[in-house]
Amino acid sequence: MRLYEFQAKRIFVENGIKVPRGIVASSSYEVFDVVKEFGAPVIIKAQVLVGGRGLAGGVKSAEDEYEAREIADQLIGGSLKNEDIASVLVEEKVSIEKEFFAGALIDYQSKSPVIIASSKGGVDIESIALENSKEIIIEKLDDKIGLTDYIARRIAKAVGLKGRSMLSFANILQSIFSILKKYDATLVEVNPLALTAEGKFIAVDAKITLDDNASFRQSELFNVLKSEKPKPGQGSKLRKYQAEKADIPTYLELAGNIGIIADGAGTGMLTLDLTKDYGGEVESYCELGGRATPKLIEEAMKIVLSNEEVNVLLINLIGGLNRMDEMAQGITSYIANKGKEVRNEQEIVVRMSGTLEEEGRRILAGSGVSSFDNIYDAIERVVEASRRC
Ligand code: GDP
Ligand code: MN
Repeated sequence: MRLYEFQAKRIFVENGIKVPRGIVASSSYEVFDVVKEFGAPVIIKAQVLVGGRGLAGGVKSAEDEYEAREIADQLIGGSLKNEDIASVLVEEKVSIEKEFFAGALIDYQSKSPVIIASSKGGVDIESIALENSKEIIIEKLDDKIGLTDYIARRIAKAVGLKGRSMLSFANILQSIFSILKKYDATLVEVNPLALTAEGKFIAVDAKITLDDNASFRQSELFNVLKSEKPKPGQGSKLRKYQAEKADIPTYLELAGNIGIIADGAGTGMLTLDLTKDYGGEVESYCELGGRATPKLIEEAMKIVLSNEEVNVLLINLIGGLNRMDEMAQGITSYIANKGKEVRNEQEIVVRMSGTLEEEGRRILAGSGVSSFDNIYDAIERVVEASRRC
């Protein structure tokens, strides 16, 4: 998971790396007030998950609160490289003497940590590498030894620093490395790391990517970060956002009128193919990853059925790890909570087999869903229903 700049900077501060004083705002009124309070000049930065914002017009400088408000108006609600801008980070403008690059990453192949540093920061590291690879220090670390004072200082000297600034740069490298470790990050990057006229280093930009495979170890952090993701307004974007938030492994929208929910990737693909073979048009496809809870299937139903295009939903479950009694509870709970609001034109067809299937079907009986044990019968019914509407 890639973090927004403001999230990465919060982690920097918590781990001893200085960042410019700033605040996140999602309206130009807030920006106006903040700048009035902070004083100008400020830098206004679009909070999006793509790099190269500066060149694309997503990082702007303002001389007073009026200009800041105007810039914020242009940015917020607009987009940058196809990504919607929901908020901006407003920061005190740092007066930069020299821009450095400092970062740490996990080398994908060897799985070992690597420190990267350069005295040619600001531009992206690939172009520094292309123009002058001698300007980049790349230090592969031994995971058992880590980034010792000695190695950190050697790198700081190699980028051309001496005395106190050499020591602070080495300290920052160690903080970057400890963030990489502590939060299971695959990348921590400061570009530019600004050296000010007063000889202090400030992280002007911040980039952190966390290892999604380690989310179970960092669940608290992941929850906070996810809760801060901007909420899209409506339609397809909103449903995709809701699916991501509910931890639904796969949610796709195609073009048709049939919704599919399957309890595993294999089952899902099979259902998708069979539905097409029978002449059905699939609108949304949702796969629950082989181990669903009643809450997850209920959540998936909410999302799929909130799509007006869907007029029949096929739920295909092959209970291996999943228990059909639990799945049935999720389904009936959706119907009970929806009450009279279940749209009549949205028929729900369930096919279940495997662990505790009889119990599952018993729970479903009388709930108004059509339940099958044979997949072909279920699909025939679904395709027929999709034509009727
Ligand atoms: P990126 O383009 O997405 O990497 O965004 P950055 O945060 O790196 O900003 C782009 C560029 O804007 C930086 O490389 C800096 O040169 C410049 N910049 C950003 N913040 C400041 C600041 O506070 N003061 C000054 N002087 N320049 C800044
Ligand atoms: Mn940058």
